[in-house]
Amino acid sequence: MSFTLAIVGRPNVGKSTLFNRLVGKRLALVDDQPGVTRDLREGDARLGPLRFTVIDTAGLEEATDESLQGRMRRLTERAVGMADACLFLIDARAGVLPADEVCADILRRRNAHVILGANKAEGRAGESGLLDAYALGLGEPVALSAEHGEGLDELLDVLTPLVEAAEARAAADAPETDVDVAEEDEDGPRVPTVDRPLQIAVIGRPNAGKSTLINKILGEERLLTGPEAGITRDAISLSLDWAGTPVRIWDTAGMRKKAKIDDKLEKLSVSDGLRAVRFAEVVVVLLDAAIPFEQQDLRIADFAEREGRAVVVAVNKWDLEDEKQDKLKALKDGFERLLPQLRGAPLVTVSAKTGRGLDRLHAAILSAYDVWNRRISTGQLNRWLGGMLEAHPPPAPGGRRIRMRYMTQVKTRPPGFVVMTSHPESVPESYVRYLVNGLRADFDMPGTPIRLHLRGQG
Ligand code: GDP
Ligand code: GDP
Repeated sequence: MSFTLAIVGRPNVGKSTLFNRLVGKRLALVDDQPGVTRDLREGDARLGPLRFTVIDTAGLEEATDESLQGRMRRLTERAVGMADACLFLIDARAGVLPADEVCADILRRRNAHVILGANKAEGRAGESGLLDAYALGLGEPVALSAEHGEGLDELLDVLTPLVEAAEARAAADAPETDVDVAEEDEDGPRVPTVDRPLQIAVIGRPNAGKSTLINKILGEERLLTGPEAGITRDAISLSLDWAGTPVRIWDTAGMRKKAKIDDKLEKLSVSDGLRAVRFAEVVVVLLDAAIPFEQQDLRIADFAEREGRAVVVAVNKWDLEDEKQDKLKALKDGFERLLPQLRGAPLVTVSAKTGRGLDRLHAAILSAYDVWNRRISTGQLNRWLGGMLEAHPPPAPGGRRIRMRYMTQVKTRPPGFVVMTSHPESVPESYVRYLVNGLRADFDMPGTPIRLHLRGQG
């Protein structure tokens, strides 16, 4: 069984164009007229190394017997039912229209796994719509240009773990070994179960101690399953009960490497690790206490942040340190200075060798996960925003007062917020940082990336 992706969205956003690009044949007609193709069509898609099935819902021509909306609803629901995930396209140039909302609504109600794509994003014309897209609350949009073939790498990045997971699922003959996925309801989509294990990736430079750490945890805890291989790539996952918490640890280079170490392999193992970040909910960035914050560490940590994962920084080989107090202080300073984007992320010292600190690591992971999932009510946010504005009003560039009227949380994992603002383009970056840092402090959200978008009213 192969992975199936449905491309959904209102007419004219570029579904067929993207379908054609993925399938590589002129299977679907493209036309300036909305929806010249009929109904659903299926094709074999290729994207980088991935092979999957793609469904196009382009058959949305104005029908005489049925409203466009009714038809869109019906087709979208059918496609959702057939697919493992939906690529929901909007037109980044047009922004979010009511018909997009209808579609978003269906996807939400059907609990579909949604990848949000903002198409026609080539050039600057697409930028505002891209921000608009956040407000749909369906996660971070992938900027695409189906016509120009842009954004396909990013699409590949988000699809890879999904396709791999589907293939791993298909390959596993013992269903009880896989708790991660998919309850299949009769006609419905595959819905990730709520109480699946917490997905953790341990990443870090070669020799930071990743495999020692994982083996230590394994040695002390109950292994539920594993290792399970990802089919298309080299990631391996292990499910275990870690101090009462079901977790799945994605390992990359760690367990397999040992064999050969040369430069090429080092590079490979790091990029392997980066890939594992995409499977993870919480990323443990493992540093070597003797040589923390090297360029590679910073890159890795930055990547985890940009991918929007909850992050815990673990400083390993703590058993080798003599001046622990001084060292800890230096580490915290270095962390503040070199990784400001991870401000407040928990920093724990561990010894993978002796096992010391693993309980603290466990606790830090759980709390980071919790924060990552946090949802703050709109009422609370607006009261808070009022206070922040009063304490420190936004500057008035050229005498033009900036108003911020309304704030809401549009997503979790990681938390994302939108603030309705009168002149979003005039708000300095420093003011956005003021708000983000304030959110972090006042709502106690350490260790999670916070996305805050200003949106114009209009
Ligand atoms: P569908 O109705 O959603 O299947 O949309 P189509 O694929 O038929 O595309 C609708 C129109 O948008 C066509 O004129 C396409 O050429 C155009 N289009 C599709 N993708 C892009 C893109 O990435 N950029 C721009 N500028 N136009 C696009
Ligand atoms: P990986 O490349 O990140 O998987 O690193 P390894 O787990 O292979 O560890 C690299 C080296 O560091 C090995 O020689 C380990 O024995 C050593 N090491 C790992 N963790 C610790 C630790 O907590 N303390 C000490 N003293 N050595 C460690």
